Amino acid sequence: MAEARCIIFDLDGTLIDSDRALIEPFLQLGVSLSEVTFGHPVQDECERLGFSVEEYLAAYDASSVQPFPGVAEMLDALTRWSICSNKARTSGLAELNRLGWAPETAWFAEDFGWKAKELTPVLAALGVAPEDVCFVGDTPHDQQCAAEVGCRFAWAGWNPRTLAASPQGVVLARPGDLFDLVDLRG
Ligand SMILES: [Mg+2]
Repeated sequence: MAEARCIIFDLDGTLIDSDRALIEPFLQLGVSLSEVTFGHPVQDECERLGFSVEEYLAAYDASSVQPFPGVAEMLDALTRWSICSNKARTSGLAELNRLGWAPETAWFAEDFGWKAKELTPVLAALGVAPEDVCFVGDTPHDQQCAAEVGCRFAWAGWNPRTLAASPQGVVLARPGDLFDLVDLRG
């Protein structure tokens, strides 16, 4: 069993089942469902679809999104975990607070200047080397982030959208399967 000192998670579509909540503001703004994509910085997706982040956030409901089954129990059993997300900080922190989750650190779109997130500054802030980290995410961009720093990556296969894409690499069927990949129980 490999050791890893900390796990870094994407948030949307990885820890929380937010696909519908992320889509809903665009639908309200008149975008068709087929035009919406996942895994991009919120500002990029808003610009692409012709809206401001402010318009999007005003329509985003951060009050009802729930974790995927088994995620809360997995997080409770972890000694060291963090968030690296393309989400706007306001809605991301609102969700973390509502769910009572307290990651060691949580990086959001603002921390990356609204550009695509990257793991390099997150690892530096945590003081960990890539070999001590496993990143868990739901989109190809997440996988790319891990590849760029050379850390391990695992797919959140409990998200049906992710599983349906037949991702290549380590696919976790359930959150608890993370512990078969890394030994992190406290
Ligand atoms: Mg995601």
